[in-house]
This record gives sequence, C-alpha cells and structure tokens, in this order.
Amino acid sequence: MKGAVLYGPRDIRFEERDAPRIVEPTDAILRLSATCICGSDLWPYRGISPVAEPTPMGHEYCGIVEEVGKAVKSIRPGQFVIGSFATSDNTCPHCRYGYQSSCVHREFMSGAQAPVLRVPHADGTLVATPELPPAEMIPGLLAVSDVLGTGWFAAVAADVQPGKTAVVVGDGAVGLLGVLAARQLGAQRVIAMSRHPARQQLAREFGATDIVTERGDAGVARIKELTKGVGADSVLECVGTQESMMQAIHATRPGGSVGYVGVPHGVELNGEELFYTHVRLHGGPAPVRRFLPDLIDLVWSGKMNPGKVFDLTLPLDQVAEGYRAMDERRAIKTLLRP
Ligand SMILES: [Zn+2]
Repeated sequence: MKGAVLYGPRDIRFEERDAPRIVEPTDAILRLSATCICGSDLWPYRGISPVAEPTPMGHEYCGIVEEVGKAVKSIRPGQFVIGSFATSDNTCPHCRYGYQSSCVHREFMSGAQAPVLRVPHADGTLVATPELPPAEMIPGLLAVSDVLGTGWFAAVAADVQPGKTAVVVGDGAVGLLGVLAARQLGAQRVIAMSRHPARQQLAREFGATDIVTERGDAGVARIKELTKGVGADSVLECVGTQESMMQAIHATRPGGSVGYVGVPHGVELNGEELFYTHVRLHGGPAPVRRFLPDLIDLVWSGKMNPGKVFDLTLPLDQVAEGYRAMDERRAIKTLLRP
C-alpha cells in the first residue's frame, strides 16, 4: 500500500507503507472512499511544528468497513462509515459529557492519506450511514469527519443562538464551514472576515451576510461599527494565531462568547486584560463524535452541502501537489481519491 509520509518541511512523499491490520480486538479496518488535507497538516508541512521522524499524514476519512476485531459489536463489514480525527470509546465520563475528543482512550488519528486505514475503538469512533451513499455525496460526508465538525463546534462553543450575530475569524476551510454552522444554528447575521475574493464568495454561499476585509484593530473597529458599537454575540476563532485570537476576543461584546478551534501557535493571553473584557472562552480539539449523527443526517437529507469546501480534487498519488496548492493558498481544501 502507498500513502503520504511527511519527512520534513515541504517534503511530503507518496511511498510504500505496511498495510494496516487489526491490532486490538476493538479495531476496524476501512477501505477509504475519500480523504483530504487539513489546514492543521500545514503546520508540520511548513516546519512550524517539526516532525521528529517520517510521519504518515492524514486524519480525515470515510469509507467502507473491510474487517472488524472480535470485540466490535455495532460496526460491521460492508458499512459506509465516518469517524472523527480523535478516537473515542464513547462510554467514559468525558464522552458522556460530549467531549469525546478528551476520551480517556483518545488517540489522534494519522495515516489517513492512504487507501486503507486502521481505526481504534471502532464502536465508539465510527458512525455508519443508513446505506451506501451516492458518489456525489461523499465529499459532504468526508467534510463531516473534521472540517465541518470543527466549524460546528466553534459555533456551539461560541454559543451561536437564533437571531443573534456571529463573527467568523479565519477564511480557511474550517472558518468557511463555521459560517455554514452559524447559519444552520440560526444566527441572523454572520460576518465573515476575509480579504480573499474566492473565499468571500464561498462564505456568501454558506450564508455569510457581511464580509469584513480589515484585520487586527481595524477589523475589530469594523465589527464594532457593524454592531452599533456593541460587538458580536458570538465569535468563532478558526486560525490559532495571537492576532486572530485577540481579534476574536476584542470583537466580542461583554457577556458574549468566543469559540476557538484554531490550534494555538504561540498564543498568550493577558489575565488582567481578559478579566475586563467580560468574554467567555471555550474551545479545544472539536468533539466531532458528539455531532456526527446530526451532521451526517443534515448532509444525507440534502439540508446542507459542506462538500463545496473542496475546491481541488486529486488522485491520492498527487498528494504533494495537494499540499503545495493549499500552502500557496491556491486551493482552500484538497480532496484526495485513493
Ligand atoms: Zn471516552
């Protein structure tokens, strides 16, 4: 089997790897229908989060179950399944509170940019669709695995409510699907912060009512202007830099909420400054498993199509070009077909 392996900065190779097999009785082996490249894969790709050794890449996946371990009860060979980037037993206290990405048995998935994938804790991690999906639905179902699930958690963590105003900081794939999530959760006004015309267009298709092109303090000033000086009820932070985090906190009204899902890189908060903002902060690695059944249903019933976020589709053996296109911001998100 050949899969994507990262050796160092901008050195991604498509090379021979051992095919995964059942290791634990709770495992499943999937033949992937589609996989993709995550914005978070760009941190190690760019050398900002260095890899210590050659690392199999990829953590977003959907496909058909080929084999299950002896202890797997609910997942069966032949089913089409979607799982989260974080495995979970879905039974421990953290899982029962809806924080499956903090499961006591959590493992972060890797190696999904490949034709075959081993998923630990199959019963608690995977959710099956009602039947095999039509080919055109696969991008939408793949998006549920991480990028939509993460945008959705940003909106839930930011306490998006019907009739209220939400701001989305970040016009990457997660931010764009954060726009979709905020609209689906009933926000009346969704302000997307983007200076990139193609991304502004997609944000509008996903339901953005306003676009703000300014950044930093100027961006905050523009949000204040658009909200009669008050600030937004909910802000989704989908980048993970110091500037984006401060932009999110300062764009939120006193008593409002920031949902932050951008993996922080060098973000430091000043306690005293935070104290006087009166802002709620909630975030972390998205507990996608909590949302999987509902999000699969919304895609299955045609109520939303998050698959539009993939603006480049390549065969898996061209994975290196997929990374380059996202690194150079020529593509929002690359779908890979094994
Ligand atoms: Zn658990």
